Amino acid sequence: MSTVPVRWQDFDQDLYVGATVVRPGQDPYARNKFNQVECDKLRMDRGVPDTRHDHCRHKQWKTELPASSVVITFHNEARSALLRTVVSVLKKSPPHLVKEIILVDDYSDNPEDGALLGKIEKIRVLRNDRREGLMRSRVRGADAATANVLTFLDSHCECNEHWLEPLLERVAEDKTRVVSPIIDVINMDNFQYVGASADLKGGFDWNLVFKWDYMTLEQRRARQGNPTAPIKTPMIAGGLFVMDKDYFELLGKYDMMMDVWGGENLEISFRVWQCGGSLEIIPCSRVGHVFRKQHPYTFPGGSGTVFASIQSRMEMKKRLGCQPFKWYLENVYPELRVPDHQDIAFGALQQGGNCLDTLGHFADGVVGVYECHNAGGNQEWALTKDKSVKHMDLCLTVVDRTAGSQIKLQGCRENDSRQKWEQIESNSKLRHVGSNLCLDSHSARTGGLTVEVCSPNLNQQWKFTLNLQL
Ligand code: UDP
Ligand code: MN
Repeated sequence: MSTVPVRWQDFDQDLYVGATVVRPGQDPYARNKFNQVECDKLRMDRGVPDTRHDHCRHKQWKTELPASSVVITFHNEARSALLRTVVSVLKKSPPHLVKEIILVDDYSDNPEDGALLGKIEKIRVLRNDRREGLMRSRVRGADAATANVLTFLDSHCECNEHWLEPLLERVAEDKTRVVSPIIDVINMDNFQYVGASADLKGGFDWNLVFKWDYMTLEQRRARQGNPTAPIKTPMIAGGLFVMDKDYFELLGKYDMMMDVWGGENLEISFRVWQCGGSLEIIPCSRVGHVFRKQHPYTFPGGSGTVFASIQSRMEMKKRLGCQPFKWYLENVYPELRVPDHQDIAFGALQQGGNCLDTLGHFADGVVGVYECHNAGGNQEWALTKDKSVKHMDLCLTVVDRTAGSQIKLQGCRENDSRQKWEQIESNSKLRHVGSNLCLDSHSARTGGLTVEVCSPNLNQQWKFTLNLQL
């Protein structure tokens, strides 16, 4: 093996990518759960649109910034995607700011996927000798890093113009800031690079699933005057962020008992905020990421076994003098509705892709369904212990107890039998207690939801985001 590193421009991409192309007749989604044929067609240094706000283009970034080690973990990544990720880092960053790229091969089937890239300038490859999962793999990469700042990326990213400088600037000024770019979308079917909205923050719902929250009108207005200002965010999306190395270590890296995938972004986000740091999205930094709908990889031992004891992590937080979770909810994520002890079920009330929606109506208005938007608001409901289905202080009310009658929103009243509901058939339906009729959406388009004789019809299937009874 040659020891003289090659420039990325001289790397033989056709040889590297050509060895693993999708054969005729094979499903292009089978290996990666994205379209590998489209991914393989694109050159390693393809151009992508500059999706930044105009104001970013005229900004002067500091040049005297701390250099960074870029850590990328991967397991069976498509070679073309992995190569494009590292080439975009080398091509779109000022060379003096990237000290090295550490590729952690998390026991991919073919060791050559990573090893061959190790010939390229600045790239170091570490290979796990068993599957460790992304958390331990990132920590392994971070431990090996020689720069003072860590930059984590997924293995299917493309960095945009001047993506790195604005991130490093924020961390250089204050090492307790953990910062991420706006994550643009690389379409998983055709690999088009599409700019993402700058009006989003990271959040989560009570299934502990990450989601994007659209900023409130007030927050958007405040940003209009200064569209390049950092956006404080309650949560980071996942694996794309920059963090001071000492600070990463001080705060306890990642939980080394977490396996494979998932939850680590919530865990590190809570920890950073609660232990004195902050999370920001930096609008002038843009990095594309291939979002997909399924995992391409296996969960050794099953996906149910990824939970472990958090005793030592709790002790660590105590040692660091971290704030309690309640503080986080009140100060960092006040927009999040917290289920209270009166709630039996909570969140959106879903029927396929549609959700029960107030349609903006108030007292005596009808209710309908609307495409689920996961943003709470008019789609936020709770079923309480006293059997009301509530949106704020409005309750679903059966004004007339006959099949086919419209449901109205009315102010909640204690002990009003017209407002009493229960979940039946494994929490799959809502039955009005007084009439034994079920909540039904068949006239949603024509007049509003009604109650009907309970039946197996799909119009009567409703599911809360979170059932606290389970
Ligand atoms: N990954 C890994 N080991 C695993 C699972 C995932 O190294 O056991 C890598 C994966 O290749 C990717 C990153 O961790 O670079 C994040 O995973 P993924 O992209 O599947 O998560 P998503 O972006 O879909 O949340
Ligand atoms: Mn990813």
